[in-house]
Amino acid sequence: MPDIEIVERGVTLAVRGVDEPGAIRAASFPSQQAQIEDALALVPVQHLGAIPEIWIGNRPASGGGFYRNPPHIGLNRRTFDAEHNRRHLFTLLHEIGHAVDRQLHAVTQFQHRCTASGDSEPSGAEWTLYRAIAYGGRNRRADGTPAYGEHFAEGYAILLTRPSRITTAQQRLIRTLARLA
Ligand SMILES: [Zn+2]
Repeated sequence: MPDIEIVERGVTLAVRGVDEPGAIRAASFPSQQAQIEDALALVPVQHLGAIPEIWIGNRPASGGGFYRNPPHIGLNRRTFDAEHNRRHLFTLLHEIGHAVDRQLHAVTQFQHRCTASGDSEPSGAEWTLYRAIAYGGRNRRADGTPAYGEHFAEGYAILLTRPSRITTAQQRLIRTLARLA
């Protein structure tokens, strides 16, 4: 499988399985590599070091995933032409959001900050604002609501692509959690 290195603002990133014969990409880009490079150009420079290897293939079965062992982002080879990935590769930016969260422990710290002593669950206005960042994916808690980290990953990708999709208060919150503020 074609393995390449992309250098983004001086940071070298490894990509496996890119632009294999018959590779699926959005029509607005000449290659999967170009589509990845377009997304990486949107990532704040201080976050580039958090990005693990990017593997394109059959895992996960659709969309993308952030894996810890070994650390990598998986992109399903068909996701490049998904409607939400045609303008920018939103799925990659979402997974990079998980990588940034992992490095900064952003959501864990925020969750603890929003949990009153004696309570088992976070609460309060900031937490409600955070949980209102819509996530339609499959990573869910036992009660069916999104896993806590998903609002950050989604908010991060929205912030970098079309910030007006979330409120200015949510933009500010994501920027603070991502240490961009
Ligand atoms: Zn996610």
